Amino acid sequence: MEELYDVIIIGGGPAGLTAAQYSSRSGLKTVVLDKSAAAGALAYSHKIENYPGITEAVSGSELLDLFRKQALKFGAEYVETQVVGVNFDNAIKEVYGSEHSYKGKTVIVATGSMGRKAGIPGEEEFLGKGVSYCATCDAAFFKGLAVCIIGDSEEAVREAGVLAHHAKEVSIITPLKESTFSVDDPSLPQDKVRVITSTRVVSIHGADFVKTIKVKDTNSGEEKEMPVDGVFIYLVGSRPVVDFLNASLPLSDKSCLMTHRSMETSIAGVFAAGDVTCGEVRQVVVASAFGCIAALSAEKFIHNRKRARFDWSAV
Ligand SMILES: Cc1cc2nc3c(=O)[nH]c(=O)nc-3n(C[C@H](O)[C@H](O)[C@H](O)COP(=O)(O)OP(=O)(O)OC[C@H]3O[C@@H](n4cnc5c(N)ncnc54)[C@H](O)[C@@H]3O)c2cc1C
Repeated sequence: MEELYDVIIIGGGPAGLTAAQYSSRSGLKTVVLDKSAAAGALAYSHKIENYPGITEAVSGSELLDLFRKQALKFGAEYVETQVVGVNFDNAIKEVYGSEHSYKGKTVIVATGSMGRKAGIPGEEEFLGKGVSYCATCDAAFFKGLAVCIIGDSEEAVREAGVLAHHAKEVSIITPLKESTFSVDDPSLPQDKVRVITSTRVVSIHGADFVKTIKVKDTNSGEEKEMPVDGVFIYLVGSRPVVDFLNASLPLSDKSCLMTHRSMETSIAGVFAAGDVTCGEVRQVVVASAFGCIAALSAEKFIHNRKRARFDWSAV
C-alpha cells in the first residue's frame, strides 16, 4: 500500500530542508523530494559567510549538508528524485517523481529560482522528442544511442554517469577551455564519455526526433553539425522553477508562486517557500524562514488549528 505523508516537500535547498526539520520535529511524517543534493542556488554558492551563526565562511554545499543532516535527525525522509508532475485536485495531493509517485495531506513547493526559459533554437520543438532535462527519467529511452549533455555542473556530470549505463556514447559539451571536473572521474565510464571543451551548442535539428546539433568552436568561431539522438540540457538561469506544476498553481507575471503570509498558496494544503515565491529578498536566511513558516502552517492545516504551534518540546 502506498504511504500517506503528512507533508511532501519538493526541493532540498534551505527552504525545503528547514521546512522538513520543523515538520518532522513536530511529529509529521515528512518526505523531501530533491532533484539533486548538488543542484540549487545554495549548492552552487562557493562561499557563505552571512548566514547567522556561521563565524567562518563555509561552502554552500557544506551548509546544505548541515541542513539535510538536521532534518534527517528529526525523522524526515530524503529521496533524490526529480519531480515531474503534481495533482492538487483532491484533498490528498499527488506528487510524481521520476520513478515513484507520492501521496500527501499537504505539499510544500521549495524548488528555488534557478530555472531558465528554453533558449536554444530547437530546444522547445524537440522537448520530449530527444531533448530532455532529466537523465534519471529518460536515460533508458536512449539505449545504444549517442547523446550529448549541455552543461558541466556537478549535477550534469552525475547525470552523464547515469546516461552512460544506457547510451552508446555521451558527449559533455562545455564552453569552458578546461572542464571543471576530472575526466578520470570513476563515475564516468572512460570508454563512453568524452568532454568537448570550448564549444557552444547553437541549435538542435531533426525531423520527428533529434538528429543533429549545430556546435560552434568558441576559439575559432567555426560551426559544424554533430549527429546525436538525444540532448540533455543542464543550464541554469534565474527563473522560479515551476515547470513541473503544469499550471496547477497560479503564477505572478514574474512566474513566481504567490502565497499568503502563512506561505499557503491559493490551493488549501499547498504551500510554497523560498526563492520560488514572490519574496523580494533572495538569501539563505530568508528562504529558511519561509520554510519554517510553511511547515508551521502545514501543521496548523493538518490539525485544523486556529493558530500555529511552534514549541513541541513543551508538550
Ligand atoms: C552564486 C550564488 C551565491 C549566493 N550567495 C549567497 C550568500 O552569500 N548568502 C545568502 O544568504 N544567499 C546567497 N545566495 C542566495 C541563496 O543561495 C538562495 O536565496 C537560497 O539558496 C534559496 O533557497 P531555496 O531553498 O529557495 O532554493 P535553492 O537553494 O535553489 O534549492 C532548490 C532545491 O530544489 C531542488 N529542485 C529543483 N527542481 C526540482 C524538481 N523538479 N524536483 C525536485 N527538486 C527540485 C534543487 O535540487 C534544490 O535542491 C546565492 C545564490 C547564488 C546563485
